[in-house]
Amino acid sequence: MTKTRICAQCNKPEMVPVSRVMKTYNSVYSYSCRNCDETLEMVPPASIGVGLMVGALALAFWGFVLHWGAGSPSTLALVIWAGAGLAVAAVWVPEILKYWLYPEGPDQPDSEEIALADDTAFSQRVVSPLERLGFVAGLFAPVVIIAGILGIATMIGYVNYTFFE
Ligand SMILES: [Zn+2]
Repeated sequence: MTKTRICAQCNKPEMVPVSRVMKTYNSVYSYSCRNCDETLEMVPPASIGVGLMVGALALAFWGFVLHWGAGSPSTLALVIWAGAGLAVAAVWVPEILKYWLYPEGPDQPDSEEIALADDTAFSQRVVSPLERLGFVAGLFAPVVIIAGILGIATMIGYVNYTFFE
């Protein structure tokens, strides 16, 4: 992740990572160009995956309630639902585009991971290990977590039903 990238402004492989800070649910790398004044903030691929999947799951659940809930959905409800879909896309599509606009520079050795500023227990236990994984792992992480919660809930229900009824 902490590789030099090619600057979209001056087209030179001079975008270097300068810091990494924790946002609410993910970390952000700051890059700055040594050749011009271009700066850039990038979300690690795994966190883009998490964001897309959480958004997609929320929209799918909401869509399910709209279509199979009480009666047929009103036009307003559908417009709000579509607007939420556009909002999710507006957040994550630019983050994905950055990887395409600022590709990694050629021929670099693996550089050391840049230290995360403002390290918290949440970032150490959840965010840092997750962000070492790739985009696909990030995409599936919310599904695994939800499946785990549902599995535990089912087991608690089963134990309750079997032993305490
Ligand atoms: Zn530049």
